[in-house]
Amino acid sequence: MGRRYCKFFSECKKKAVYKIPYTNLYLCKEHFIENLEKRVRRFIEKKHLIHPWHPKYSRYREKILIALSGGKDSQVLLHVMKHLYPDEIIEGIYIELGISHGDYSLDSEKIARATCKKLDIPFHVADLKEEYGFSIDDIYELKNIFHENNWSLGSGHFRGQCSYCGTFKRYLINKYAAEHDFTCVATGHNLTDETTSLINNFFNQNMLFLSRMDYKSDADIEKLVPRIKPLYYITEEEITVYAYFANVNHLPTECVYAKQANNLKLKDVLSEIESYRKGTMISLMKRYQKVLKPIVEDYMENQSYQSENKHNKCNQCGFPTFANRCNFCKTVNFLQDRFRQAENRLDINIFNENAKNL
Ligand code: SF4
Ligand code: ZN
Ligand code: ZN
Repeated sequence: MGRRYCKFFSECKKKAVYKIPYTNLYLCKEHFIENLEKRVRRFIEKKHLIHPWHPKYSRYREKILIALSGGKDSQVLLHVMKHLYPDEIIEGIYIELGISHGDYSLDSEKIARATCKKLDIPFHVADLKEEYGFSIDDIYELKNIFHENNWSLGSGHFRGQCSYCGTFKRYLINKYAAEHDFTCVATGHNLTDETTSLINNFFNQNMLFLSRMDYKSDADIEKLVPRIKPLYYITEEEITVYAYFANVNHLPTECVYAKQANNLKLKDVLSEIESYRKGTMISLMKRYQKVLKPIVEDYMENQSYQSENKHNKCNQCGFPTFANRCNFCKTVNFLQDRFRQAENRLDINIFNENAKNL
């Protein structure tokens, strides 16, 4: 940073410790924290992600459920939201997925729980194995059993761990939010994640996913609580720096299955491009929102995909889906069948037969 000084206001004479990427703004520690929070607040208010309570105008307070993983993004989101919106009802939820490698899940939950306690935020847990009989680690074991024994899967196939994990987290968080009258669910997705998904969907020519990419999901659909991404225009690097300056505790290690994620390499490539072409990510996302998204949406309107964009009620669980049965129920049915098959054939015990939803 050399001998630069904070440019926040002319009266700040402190030494600058960070330069906001893609700008010429050099800031001291305190003003970087303030600047990031201000940008998040401006974004939330400009895009109407929430309607902050005001004694004169607001009829109700927002009830915001923050999806927590113990990682830096959701931990920073929790701090920023609590600081910006002390008058709204803010609660946290952690999904216990059962990833035991190096006590990953246990440690993640401890950190999320402790932060909620520190910030006086109610903390909730939904446990995949308790509710549906298996964990993410169990699925990994199941896949190995089928592979080693060369058993046929009949109809259906196994997917990657992160694909299962994403489906379960999305469903369980929405279910909890819908059943407890939350007005929205906030997640810690940042600019780097979103740009990576954009490029990935573009490479795969996945028009359906492209058309659904946004900082706010559908509102006014029964049992589908709107999801918001307040850190949409904040880079992963800025979140790391905020966590460091604001002493936000988070799990430093990565999930053991992260290396299987397809997006990881793409994220590295994008970060490298960003390092010598500052502002690439933010301009890509802003261009996408302004220019490409309306074109993709128009294209989808005129395609046979139209039917895939209409919400139905899942004929098994009653939650919204684009098909007759939701992806979550289909996935759980498939896995529960295969677990029972493996246990009957090998006389082993992985599956929790006392799960609530069998
Ligand atoms: Fe889930 Fe994959 Fe993230 Fe691990 S890396 S927590 S399996 S999404
Ligand atoms: Zn300053
Ligand atoms: Zn369902």
